[in-house]
Amino acid sequence: MPDKRHIVPKQLRETGHSLLTSSHLLHHAEFLTTAAEWRQLPTGGAPEVAFAGRSNAGKSSAINALTQRARLAFASKTPGRTRHINFFRLRSGALLADLPGYGYAQVPASVRHHWQRFLARYLAERAPLVGLVLIMDVRHSLTPLDRQTLDWIVPSALPVHVLLAKSDKLSRSDGGRVLEELRGTLTRDYPRARLGAQLFSATNRDGVPEAQAVIASWLGGTASEPSQKERPRGQGE
Ligand code: GDP
Repeated sequence: MPDKRHIVPKQLRETGHSLLTSSHLLHHAEFLTTAAEWRQLPTGGAPEVAFAGRSNAGKSSAINALTQRARLAFASKTPGRTRHINFFRLRSGALLADLPGYGYAQVPASVRHHWQRFLARYLAERAPLVGLVLIMDVRHSLTPLDRQTLDWIVPSALPVHVLLAKSDKLSRSDGGRVLEELRGTLTRDYPRARLGAQLFSATNRDGVPEAQAVIASWLGGTASEPSQKERPRGQGE
């Protein structure tokens, strides 16, 4: 296994942890590869942050806003890639994993079952995974498929950060009310989970620095605690 501290450039290690929590870590993302089954997942052990959400929730726009790359995640929408996990590599070596949007009614049941098994296993067992960003449309939050995704990842004790996307579609007070309701529901239904939530808009960049800071803290925390990722996953805690 490579020494995971090398994932953080030497310059960043020397200047301290504060830089890791800045937006810099997420810039310069490049498309790396795509995986439709387990053996195609990248090897090498670089830490990985996954993005999931219902189709049309705003996941691609969120990834683009967070990485400041106008069209990066729309690669995932090109024909032949919509049922894949698409990986983007940051300059630090860390990866962003764009999971396929769920909820397309017209997907045949056999394909849906294949994907459900793959995603369930990915979220429960993928060793380099350090956290999940779950994107929900602020007007349709916590659908049954969002709950299913949470049910798959919560037992692994990884942190999950919910972006209530398209916050510009609601007034500030309505957005605040949805956020408080969601926090209350998550605390009630997943009392032992490491869950955060915030409002987010790719359109007016509401919440972009906050989300960048959460992701950077996951990646930075991993870099300074390399042994953490070696623990067995998928057993629940
Ligand atoms: P994905 O299917 O989850 O990747 O969703 P997309 O990022 O493709 O967005 C779906 C639709 O919502 C598109 O028409 C986007 O332009 C729109 N959208 C995405 N983010 C925002 C946002 O922050 N505000 C608004 N008003 N629209 C958004």
